[in-house]
Amino acid sequence: MHHINLFSLIENNGIVELNYLNQDLKRLPQADNIIDNNIKLTLRGETIDQNGRTQNLIHINISGLFFLKCQRCENCIEKKIHITNTLEVFYTQSTLEKLPIEQENFDSIVGSKEYNPQELLEEEILLNLPAFPTHDVCPTHDYYAKTQEVESPFAILKKLKPN
Ligand SMILES: [Zn+2]
Repeated sequence: MHHINLFSLIENNGIVELNYLNQDLKRLPQADNIIDNNIKLTLRGETIDQNGRTQNLIHINISGLFFLKCQRCENCIEKKIHITNTLEVFYTQSTLEKLPIEQENFDSIVGSKEYNPQELLEEEILLNLPAFPTHDVCPTHDYYAKTQEVESPFAILKKLKPN
């Protein structure tokens, strides 16, 4: 598990590139049999002066393949993801809460010297996933159409019954 010092990343205008295996992203809904694959997370720190104050920013870039379970046929949907976002990082929860709403031009988080970017990664992906993922055209539809032609009507009836 990677931990990074988010504050020094911002102070140094640093860039960090991390790779995560899909299998390790346990909080996310995924297909049953996902293949070995990496999702790349890039974090870039930056400090800007805006609205008469200094803002500590983290620019996020997430890319890779994600494997969702189709809610119609239960097979795997391969989805290319590319997510970018910018977050304002605060040193403490109380400074974050003191920020007037009209000055909130980015989503805000509280940083840490031992920040675990995996939570951030999972949250950003989750926000960008469809609530009800399905294939445009499910791959099994063709398969069923073909097999039903040769099967007895009784077998088809059995198949249509809910569990
Ligand atoms: Zn499907």
